[in-house]
Amino acid sequence: MFDTAAHTHVDALLQWMTGRSFVVLTGAGISTSSGIPDYRDSDGVRRGRQPMMFQEFLNDPQARRRYWARAMLGWPRVRAAQPNAADQALAALQRHGIITQNVDTLHDQAGSQEVIELHGSLHRVVCLDCHQRTERDVIQLTLLAQNPYLAGVDAVQAPDGDTLLDPAFEERFRVPLCPHCGGERLKPDVVFLAKTSRLPLLPGPWLGSKTLRGCWWWARH
Ligand SMILES: [Zn+2]
Repeated sequence: MFDTAAHTHVDALLQWMTGRSFVVLTGAGISTSSGIPDYRDSDGVRRGRQPMMFQEFLNDPQARRRYWARAMLGWPRVRAAQPNAADQALAALQRHGIITQNVDTLHDQAGSQEVIELHGSLHRVVCLDCHQRTERDVIQLTLLAQNPYLAGVDAVQAPDGDTLLDPAFEERFRVPLCPHCGGERLKPDVVFLAKTSRLPLLPGPWLGSKTLRGCWWWARH
């Protein structure tokens, strides 16, 4: 709930916004009340590890095994998350488009249209060999079938569908293979940090005409 001072700021902001066009760029904080952790606690201390670099994921089978073991336990929380009041308010306000850094699709679930996902979506997985995409729910079924020993393990939830898992659990872990080509380099369809930024690292939505139209709209307005 807002206190009096916050109400004053909100009222001032509302008056300023009335009759104007505006853009909303959302980040991790908007999803915390849906149960998805953000990146830092109230003291500014980072939760969990540093994000995995793209080169590490690409070249190190052990890194991919670590990612998928932790993500297998982290996905159910992201999958079950429901849009919160802020997601629903933005969907009600929206007339043209919304830009988000989040990978949880809660804006879509709240009814927002033409969401530009700057960092992609955890709800899709892309193969780095054949470039086919697969629904994350499909990969989760494979993960559970191949690694039943891990299903009941309790791990602390971390940002981006990650968990803080004891590395001892990773040794027996079997990574999922691509259902299209059998390759073992499946990657969540989200942006990983890289030493150099190249277009092929961008998630699928950036390459779609709908998104390009959205970017064009935002660039002109
Ligand atoms: Zn493939």
